[in-house]
Amino acid sequence: MKTIGLIGGMSWESTTSYYKLLNEGVKAKLGGLHSAKIILYSVDFAPIARLQNEGNWKEAALIIKEAALSLQRAGADFILLCTNTMHKILPLVTPFVNIPFLHIAEATATALLTQEKRNAILLGTKFTMQESFYKDILNAHKINVIVPDEKSIETINQIIFNELCIGKIETDSRRKFLHIIDDLKKGDERIDSVILGCTEIGLLLDQRSSNLALFDTTVLHVNEAIKHALEQETSF
Ligand code: GLU
Repeated sequence: MKTIGLIGGMSWESTTSYYKLLNEGVKAKLGGLHSAKIILYSVDFAPIARLQNEGNWKEAALIIKEAALSLQRAGADFILLCTNTMHKILPLVTPFVNIPFLHIAEATATALLTQEKRNAILLGTKFTMQESFYKDILNAHKINVIVPDEKSIETINQIIFNELCIGKIETDSRRKFLHIIDDLKKGDERIDSVILGCTEIGLLLDQRSSNLALFDTTVLHVNEAIKHALEQETSF
């Protein structure tokens, strides 16, 4: 089994989901007392969130690069960056790291295409919804991406940073998310899916909350990692 390196802490609320899902996934595949081989580098999120808001992505990339190099030195075989947003700076990090990153948007695109979904609402931080670094990857796979209007983007972003990232799960916020999804669907009948493109949204919404197929990026990223970690597994 390969050793999975996690860069977590953004926020740690979703890193705990990664840890749990990875172990559950390996146990489901191998049974018994098997569990995932994981090395976790968990950052302090406050300075990183500040750098995001200041637009100082270069400085944020240096922190992620340091984390990745630590995981490499510690013996990780590959890395999951446990946040959609920070994939923005991945191109500034990968040239310095010799082990691969499994890209969260690539894992998401693969899952959508497997279920023949081509018109997806993307929900995430304002960076993920407004900028092109994430949408470009989906578009490259011929997936059409629909994002909410300015006001809804602001609402979602506030809920992510002021509630979900600090462990607050509010019924009213769940209702707001579902309204935003419903409104978008009413405006565009082609919509066939929703990407939960922020690793904390799965803490608020699950498939029972919507008639549209929900794609939780945390789960998809984990599934891809389990596949990769157990590839060529011969001796259990
Ligand atoms: N975990 C979040 C994401 O998946 C947001 C936190 C961040 O800004 O990194 O985008």
